[in-house]
Amino acid sequence: MKVKKMLSAVLASALLVGSVTPCFASTTQQKIDEAEKQKQEMESSLSEAQDKIDALESKKGQSETYLEELNGQLEELKNSLQQLQNDYDDKQKELEQVQQELEEAKESEAQQYSDMKIRIQYMYENSSTSYVEMFLSADSISEFLSRAVNIAQLSEYDRELLDQYQETREQIAEKEEQVIQEKDEIQQLQIQSQDKQAEVSELIEATYNEIRSYQDSISQAESEQADLLAQVNAQEEEINNLIRQAKEEEIAAQKAEEEAQRRKAEEEAAKKQQSESDNSSSGESGAVQTPSGSASQDEGSDSGSSSSGEGKYLGRFRLTSYCPCSICCGKWSGGLTASGTVPTAGRTVAMGGVPFGTKLLINGQVYIVEDRGTAYGHVDIFNNTHSEALAFGSQYADVYMIG
Ligand SMILES: [Zn+2]
Repeated sequence: MKVKKMLSAVLASALLVGSVTPCFASTTQQKIDEAEKQKQEMESSLSEAQDKIDALESKKGQSETYLEELNGQLEELKNSLQQLQNDYDDKQKELEQVQQELEEAKESEAQQYSDMKIRIQYMYENSSTSYVEMFLSADSISEFLSRAVNIAQLSEYDRELLDQYQETREQIAEKEEQVIQEKDEIQQLQIQSQDKQAEVSELIEATYNEIRSYQDSISQAESEQADLLAQVNAQEEEINNLIRQAKEEEIAAQKAEEEAQRRKAEEEAAKKQQSESDNSSSGESGAVQTPSGSASQDEGSDSGSSSSGEGKYLGRFRLTSYCPCSICCGKWSGGLTASGTVPTAGRTVAMGGVPFGTKLLINGQVYIVEDRGTAYGHVDIFNNTHSEALAFGSQYADVYMIG
């Protein structure tokens, strides 16, 4: 679960302050402090790079949402334009029909006018004789009047018919004008819709380019981030190596100190023996040196020479405990270990500076390094619950590498 990456630097420093004796490790400690400082600067840059990526991702996300909206708008516009085209086609058919009706009305009107003209002309041309004939042939004045009325009625009928035809023609002409106007209106809507469609298409193109540009920036920032991360990891490795060196120096110094004390004790014992047996042969001083070798082996049993039984002594390491909760593991909470295993209490530990799978013997228990998050010299032991991890607290123990 790649534990507590952020805490490792702080913990590593705390560990060194607590455990390294300054007299022999001061230069190594100085190197570690310097390396830690550099690493913190790198991590700060890394964090800035992440912020930059987050901001770009957010902008990209907004653009993507906008692009979706625009695509929706374009789809609607296409549908409405299709509808307008259908309306336009219908209106065109209607117009053609109205225009045909108008032609027919015009013809009817012309025909009526022509017929009427002929009839009226005939009547008036023949009126003088007709009126005389009518007057003479009529049996009575009332009959004449009745005939005269019929003639008048006939022309009135023609007049009415002509008016009717004219009216019909005018109505149809009006209808034609209306249909043409409606058609023009549809055409205007089509033009508007096409303009809008062109506008939306341009916005889509621009937004798409914007997204691509964000993506390019993100890729570049991610590449920079990867470089920074590689630098941080390299720095972490260097720090782990320096800590290991400090630990080895510490062990060597302890051994040297023990050796010096042992020799001092031997010398004092020899002096004492010599003073006790003043007259004895001086050759015995060589025999004294022999047990000194065996004494050295006894002394070293809890350090270097015990490698056959307990593995290689790495030093006195700080121990803490973590669990799968979000307090301990942050965003990696509840996941697998950094090496891909299922974290298991009593087996899984986290520590930098050694390969995954390294077996550590601590307080008689064998653990396997499966996770990361702490520097070399600080073993973080996996526990199932946060309360167990808290109860474990912070301890120090001798750590051996086995297997
Ligand atoms: Zn926890």
